[in-house]
This record gives sequence, C-alpha cells and structure tokens, in this order.
Amino acid sequence: MDNNKIMPSVFLKKGKERLVQSKHPWIFSGAIEKIKDVKQNGETVVVKSFDGKELALGAISIHSQIAVRIWSFNVNKKIDDQFFTERINSAISLRRKIINFDHTNVYRLINSESDLIPGLIADVYGDFLVCQFLSAGAEFWKATIVEILKKLLNINNIFERSDTDSRRKEKFEEKSGVLSGIEPPDFVEVVENGLKFLVDIKSGHKTGFYIDQRDNRNLIKDFAKDKSVLNCFCYTGGFSLYAHSAGAKSITNIDSSSAALKILTKNFSINNFPSEQVTNIEGDVFQVLRKFRDEGKTFDLIILDPPKFAESASQVNKAARGYKDINLLAMKILNTGGILFTFSCSGHITQDLFRKIVDDAAIDSGRTVKFIRQLTQSADHPVLSSFPEGLYLKGLLCEVT
Ligand code: SAH
Repeated sequence: MDNNKIMPSVFLKKGKERLVQSKHPWIFSGAIEKIKDVKQNGETVVVKSFDGKELALGAISIHSQIAVRIWSFNVNKKIDDQFFTERINSAISLRRKIINFDHTNVYRLINSESDLIPGLIADVYGDFLVCQFLSAGAEFWKATIVEILKKLLNINNIFERSDTDSRRKEKFEEKSGVLSGIEPPDFVEVVENGLKFLVDIKSGHKTGFYIDQRDNRNLIKDFAKDKSVLNCFCYTGGFSLYAHSAGAKSITNIDSSSAALKILTKNFSINNFPSEQVTNIEGDVFQVLRKFRDEGKTFDLIILDPPKFAESASQVNKAARGYKDINLLAMKILNTGGILFTFSCSGHITQDLFRKIVDDAAIDSGRTVKFIRQLTQSADHPVLSSFPEGLYLKGLLCEVT
C-alpha cells in the first residue's frame, strides 16, 4: 500500500478479524466498528482490525448490508487496471480449460465472487458480451472493466443488463443498454454443444439464457432416447432440444411465459427439428401437473427446473412446500423406471434440505426414489472454496419406480 496517501479505511470490531482469515469475500456492516475517510461509494478501502492492522483491500458499498466486498487479501496489491487485467485473464484461462469452443459459443466468462471480481457477471453470447455490475465496487470500476474486456476478448459489442434486485439493494438504478459496439438484434443466435439457440439478450431472463444448466442439459441426452419427456418450466426449450437431439419419442413443454414458448418454437425450427411430437402448454406448472395426475397422463422422463422459490431465508418454508408439491406430482405421473431431473436454484435451500424435500415427496407419493446423481451448476459457474454461497444450483437425478 502507498503509505503517503490517505486511504479510506474500515475498522472491524474486535474479534472480527477472523472473518478475513477465512478469506470469505464479504464483510457485513454489523462487523464494522467505524469507517474513515470514505468519499465515494464503491471506492477502495483498507480493511483493518480494531487496532489498525491492515488485513485486506475491498470495495465499500455504502448502502448494502454487505458493506465491503474484498478485492484482495494482499494489502500491498494496487487495485488498478493491472489488477483487473490479471483477474479477467485468469477467468479467461479457466474457461479455456472447460469450454469446447468448437461447438459452444455461449458461456459464463466471469462469475462474480467466485472469479474474484465481486459484483461482476460477464456472459459471452457469440459476438456479444453481456455484463451485470451488481455491486458498488463493480460499478465504480465499470469503464475500466469494459475497456479491459474489449481488449482481452477481442469482442467489441458489450451490452449491460444491470436490471436486477441485488442492484436495488445497493441503491443503484436498474440499467440496461449498449456499453460498447452495436445494439444487439432482438435475437442473437448462439451454439451450445452443437445445438442452436436464439437468445433475447436485451430482455430475456438473467442475461438472456440459463447458461448454468448447460452440463445438465447435455446429461439428459443419456436418458431421453425413445422416451416421452415432460419439460416443466421449459423457458426457451433448453432441455427439450437436447432431448429431441437424443431421439425422444415425444416432448411436452410447460411454461407460463408465452414469449419464452415462442422462442422455443423458433429454436426447434432453426435446428431443423420437426415439431409434430412437440406439445407446448402455456400455463402454471402446479395446475398442469395436477390436471395430468387427475387425467392419468404419464411420462417416462420429467424435468423440474423452477424459478427461485426462496428469495430470502424467511421464504425457505414456503419454498420447500412448493418444491415438495411439484416433486410429489411429478413422481405420481412418472412411469415405472421413469427418470426425474429435479432442481432448485434458491441459494437458501441447501443441498441437504433439497434431498430431504425430494425424499418427503417420495414418501408421500408411495414411490421408490433412487438418487443416481447429484447435479449442480455448469463448470463455467465455478464456486470459490471460501465462498459457499456461490453454489446456488442444486439438482438430483432420480430413478422412480
Ligand atoms: N430449464 C430452463 C430454464 C428454466 S427458468 C432452461 O434450461 O433454459 C424457469 C422458467 O419457469 C421461466 O421460463 C419462467 O417463465 C417459468 N415459470 C415461472 N413460474 C412458473 C409457473 N408457475 N408455471 C410455469 N412456468 C413458470
């Protein structure tokens, strides 16, 4: 650190320095004794113990309960262009190890805390990069980060989708628009494991696509041949296209969004997949599953990939009831020996709790359920070992008899 300059500082309460020793990247406001010389939201602060020992450098978030997000535990590091170049380069280097660019050009390049750049999400969609700046620190360094990304990736088209809840917690306005290059078309065509998808990066969910399910979508190919498939919460048809490519007998898609189902239909057509065996239902999964149960309609393979049911810890019980409901219904309408891909993307529902919920559903349904694989988010959504919160997507691959 440059000792000639007065650096803004955050003093932790006595005993709270052990938080920093665990290398967790967040400091909550409750752990802070006092804040000194901070002039601008998002600027770099030195985190100090109660008695002034320098522990880490981070970005201050004045309005958030997560008051500091750590940039580095090395207090001698300078947080500057060079720093972000190094961090982005190391994220790129990991993606080179895990993405096969011959048949995939849609992937997460930077996964926030887990890529050591808290608050920054960057997703690649072919010639477009879509970024979210979700913390005061990421927002503070936005212009620098955009320039570095352009240089290192050789991508000129960068679109911002900072229109999220977490941004509201930081008291930043939601923002979306062009940061560099051209305005994206209404649909950008991308390739994932050789399958084509149209993505609405300007207003689709997240940054346009559920990139985190790529590895699980690929896995469905092992189970879909000659099967009747029910894809619940299908969005633009990710799992369905993979199921079709593996030779599924029929595919039924349910989603409440008519816009998503329209893109799904287009996705079948751009891959030259016939639509005769495909049924699309615009509706509420809870209601449609009940209707299928009452009608005695059954399937060989069911996917349950609902949106986040628990937005906060206080919603865990209600969310658990929702998960149990859909899993119970799915188990009731699966043929003997059927396969269930079931997911929860709620960070507040732990893997253990999710297993328990699915087990409760198994008991109530009277079926025998074997967990044959534990599933998680795709490899381009790494989880930093000191940041367990980074693991949000949990899934179970089950055989139901
Ligand atoms: N599996 C998808 C992603 C699913 S995202 C993929 O691989 O791309 C969750 C989807 O659930 C969204 O498309 C949303 O529109 C839909 N959804 C949310 N609540 C719903 C409900 N009650 N019934 C049906 N669809 C719902």
